[in-house]
Amino acid sequence: LAAPAQAPLVAGWRNGFAALGPAFFTELRPTPLPAPHWVGASDDVAALLGLPEGWQQRDDALQSFTGNALPPGSRPLASVYSGHQFGVWAGQLGDGRAILLGEVETPAHGGQELQLKGCGRTPYSRMGDGRAVLRSSIREFLCSEAMHALGIPTTRALCVTGSPAPVAREEIETAAVVTRVAPSFIRFGHFEHFAARGQQAELRRLADYVIDRYYPECRDGANPCAALLRAVSERTAALMARWQAVGFCHGVMNTDNMSILGLTIDYGPFQFLDAFDPGHICNHSDAQGRYAFDRQPGVAWWNLLCLAQAMLPLIGEVETARAALSTYEGVFAAEFLRRMRAKLGLQQPREGDGALVDALLRLLAAGRVDYTIFWRRLSHAVAAGDFEPVRDLFADRAAFDAWLLSYEELLALEDQALVADLMLNTNPGFVLRNHLGEQAIRAAKLGDFSELQTLQKLLARPFDEHPGHEAHAGFPPEWASTISISCSS
Ligand code: AMP
Ligand code: MG
Ligand code: MG
Repeated sequence: LAAPAQAPLVAGWRNGFAALGPAFFTELRPTPLPAPHWVGASDDVAALLGLPEGWQQRDDALQSFTGNALPPGSRPLASVYSGHQFGVWAGQLGDGRAILLGEVETPAHGGQELQLKGCGRTPYSRMGDGRAVLRSSIREFLCSEAMHALGIPTTRALCVTGSPAPVAREEIETAAVVTRVAPSFIRFGHFEHFAARGQQAELRRLADYVIDRYYPECRDGANPCAALLRAVSERTAALMARWQAVGFCHGVMNTDNMSILGLTIDYGPFQFLDAFDPGHICNHSDAQGRYAFDRQPGVAWWNLLCLAQAMLPLIGEVETARAALSTYEGVFAAEFLRRMRAKLGLQQPREGDGALVDALLRLLAAGRVDYTIFWRRLSHAVAAGDFEPVRDLFADRAAFDAWLLSYEELLALEDQALVADLMLNTNPGFVLRNHLGEQAIRAAKLGDFSELQTLQKLLARPFDEHPGHEAHAGFPPEWASTISISCSS
């Protein structure tokens, strides 16, 4: 008897990016890794892609998502881009350790690209080894899915596989591969690349592709590329508002790490704030603090200026480009205030709400109050009508009490039935703090993935109460501040 035919692992390949032509990439195969094993997987992303039932039990899945086999229909390539790193033009970069398998048409979410990160050298690896270590791959996997659950635009992560193959970083670690998923991995740096080389035809082809595929609403106006720049700028502004409101520090906001779709991309030395410190630097390699927490909206603006510069030949007049960017600040400010209002349970814009937010952020900074715990406790306090547990977070009780008085005045104007629910669904109890990731990583290095799975479950529903998991929503331990994370591990 013939064995029943197996459903294809991934169906519906269409490979849109590959159609841009050879100036945009090098076709190549991933470099295999020995003895791969599963580290983690997201059922949610598998469903998004329409993977067949039981896919994780299949050896072709394990091999394909490690880069040891090619799913039939895929057309692997590494794309070329350039960029500004830490404010300095770095010239050509490109996918140095990531390979795009291609794009698949999904049942409900349009075209989605699958990319393997850590699957070997490419022509763009420069001095790098093309690999990613287990530690950073787990961080990327967990954080991609955590951000999505928080409602923050992000690349997704289908799975992580590990291999005993050694990878040299500060010490010898082991290799891993993350399968990332996004409608597109095009970065500001793709535009900068062709602009810097004066490749006008490719620059235009890139812009046309991005407009046709991802910003069709920009096609109809008088200047589609100016409309594209404005749309990217506004999505980026909204993304920055989300990061600032949730306390997310990216850590490496180089222009090659800025998504043209306004997604959070490239999870390296990122950190969710513990104590609220506006100047917090999460990247150990960022001595100057260029990418400090409170600089992020300004850096995104600087990066948009680089994008505008690159797109200028397509847009025409400098004034037109300037006008396209003119809404950035307003969109950021409005979105940020909207998010902060929701965090406070305020449904309507009202006189004095901005000042209330500013005063609160000053108080949180002065007391180095834990950012996530503050908001969650405030949500519970409003629900219970008892602010004592929030008050306990502040050394300067009098200052907090003064703030609370003005807050309660605004709160009294709201529909009380809705306030607590709004807050509890806006202020997460569970975020991927560094020490939580670290605990999951330590266990995973010993072959125990249970903590990773627990974290994944909690972070997938960050606004729920999870009885028995209070410690995961608690203060960071002393040692958390000694975790040091830098670029490209
Ligand atoms: P990042 O700092 O992660 O944005 O990476 C900057 C550039 O370095 C990109 O072109 C990456 O592909 C490349 N890169 C980072 N790590 C490696 C590595 N281990 N091997 C090859 N290329 C790398
Ligand atoms: Mg990068
Ligand atoms: Mg990176």
